[in-house]
Amino acid sequence: MTQTYQIALLPGDGIGPEIIGVTVYILNAVGQQYGLQFEFSQALIGGAAIDETGDPLPQETLDTCRRSDAVLLAAIGGYKWDNLPRRQRPETGLLGLRAGLELFANLRPAQILPQLVDSSTLKREVVEGVDIMVVRELTGGVYFGEPKGIFAAETGEQRGVNTMAYSDHEIDRIAKVAFETAQKRNQRLCSVDKANVLEVSQLWRDRVNALASSYPDIELSHMYVDNAAMQLVRAPKQFDTIVTGNLFGDILSDAAAMLTGSIGMLPSASIGDGNPGVFEPVHGSAPDIAGEDKANPLAQVLSAAMMLRYGLDEPAAADKLEKAVFQVLDQGYRTGDIMSEGMTYVGCQGMGDALLKAL
Ligand code: NAD
Repeated sequence: MTQTYQIALLPGDGIGPEIIGVTVYILNAVGQQYGLQFEFSQALIGGAAIDETGDPLPQETLDTCRRSDAVLLAAIGGYKWDNLPRRQRPETGLLGLRAGLELFANLRPAQILPQLVDSSTLKREVVEGVDIMVVRELTGGVYFGEPKGIFAAETGEQRGVNTMAYSDHEIDRIAKVAFETAQKRNQRLCSVDKANVLEVSQLWRDRVNALASSYPDIELSHMYVDNAAMQLVRAPKQFDTIVTGNLFGDILSDAAAMLTGSIGMLPSASIGDGNPGVFEPVHGSAPDIAGEDKANPLAQVLSAAMMLRYGLDEPAAADKLEKAVFQVLDQGYRTGDIMSEGMTYVGCQGMGDALLKAL
């Protein structure tokens, strides 16, 4: 029997259409093997949506996403839209999508694949075996807190204001996702905050501690964010699962990503309660290489694997997709961003063809 899934497809900007094009035919190929049929509904987001409608997240796009089983997103943004007012910027579309689907948890794996250990800028002995999952709170904290804005101060100066705020329920639900994620991994959870300075972090730490008794199998630790940044580059193997707020998570997950050496290899999943999840690569729209068949599609393909695993509960198909990625790397195929001596250079399409063969 064939299982049919509705997938909202958001190619966005820059290399987005190239990497999502490859991913669609790879998904169809894996679907055929596992009795899965994907019905894709393409919708506009980011700069492409601004050009067409003036709005980085048209209502129609949000409606399409809400009607689907999962959302596969590529990337948004580009030089062309950098100087628009904030509410019309591509990034505003992305934040709106996360808020509109109430995607409060962002899961970002940073795993060093044995085939790519030498892509890391850190020493082999430091990064070999690194396997970290950063669970970042996504819909609260300083990116959303009020008041915010640029105000005229009494001194005559301007004053820029953002507010870092978390309520009990926001901390509890992200901590729960993190404890449960750690249960599926190596049962270690490190909560990162700045509780020595920030009240909002003190509340974060108190709530995480309060939940810990419900997860006696998890070894919980706490770390200040500045130390966590240091430890990530000094001794990253000490981490299993990390949970942290929106701003700290934004920065630390990028630092964790760079341990692997290539941003073109990293997928992510954003999930909420009940709504479809959004699955997207960590990297941006890479406008510097857009349209040149140079983009690495593997992060997008691995995002599709996360979609199969976390969004559609199809772990066998997810495994197959991930295995195909490992296989093409074993065979020596490399896009420019992960190229090294003796390997076979391929473009975005070439990598897609190699994956198709591996499947
Ligand atoms: P970027 O991730 O787009 O690019 C950084 C560098 O990595 C570039 O040299 C790029 O060529 C390279 N790169 C990225 N993805 C690659 C891939 N798949 N294959 C090969 N090389 C790859 O980050 P940036 O340059 O800071 O931002 C460019 C635009 O993307 C900006 O408008 C930014 O706002 C936007 N952006 C979007 C997202 C998102 O959609 N989630 C995330 C980050 C940045």
